[in-house]
Amino acid sequence: MKSTIPDTGVPITPPASNGDRQENRHEASLHGEILLRLRDYVVEGNIPEGARVPERQLCEMLGISRTPLREALKVLAAEGLIELLPNRGARVRQLSQRDLEELFDVMAGLESLAGRLACEAITDAEITAIEQLHYEMYGYYLHRDMHGYFQANQRIHESIVAAARNETLKTAYANFAGRIRRVRYSANFARRRQRWAEAMREHEAILDALRRRAGSELSDILFQHLRNKRTAAIEHLTEPQESVPASP
Ligand SMILES: [Zn+2]
Repeated sequence: MKSTIPDTGVPITPPASNGDRQENRHEASLHGEILLRLRDYVVEGNIPEGARVPERQLCEMLGISRTPLREALKVLAAEGLIELLPNRGARVRQLSQRDLEELFDVMAGLESLAGRLACEAITDAEITAIEQLHYEMYGYYLHRDMHGYFQANQRIHESIVAAARNETLKTAYANFAGRIRRVRYSANFARRRQRWAEAMREHEAILDALRRRAGSELSDILFQHLRNKRTAAIEHLTEPQESVPASP
């Protein structure tokens, strides 16, 4: 299938919006909102890998006290994004090159399996929903909006996993996805391979195979998609870090 995806240079993206949504909400949705914003903040590389989580600064940024912040940090620790320290602090989890290689290979296997199973069970409505996410993601790509792109991208991958109709797979996927989410985001900034354009072209092939319910083809494409992501992540790990968006 011929791709129409243009190459772009290093993406420039504004930091995640903050502080502009302060309406009254009930507690549960407030907790969810804090969690979302904190997760994005960590995933988008605003705290260096291995560095302590600046709790006081985050409380100010989110307009909350320590207790709800600690609750949210516990969730992120369970997802594997951060580690809680014995003295009540927390730091961003650091992954070695070997950790990354292993995690991306396991994710490649899980996504590949998900693609194969999804083609056996996915409904037309689910394919339509993924198509919509795909075009939404393409719009973010054209506007070089990495924040929006990444959100849509995650939802596409999660939708394929959900369409596999396998709770065991879904749980394993969520567990590993949390641990590499941060690296997966920053890998899009790897320069040498024009990774972002390459990923967008791969997503065209993913959608194409899904529409045809071509299970083994989709399985191979998803495996390679994660392989390429792995290469970009390792390159990003070993290249100078100035292409990561700075703190707001
Ligand atoms: Zn993807």
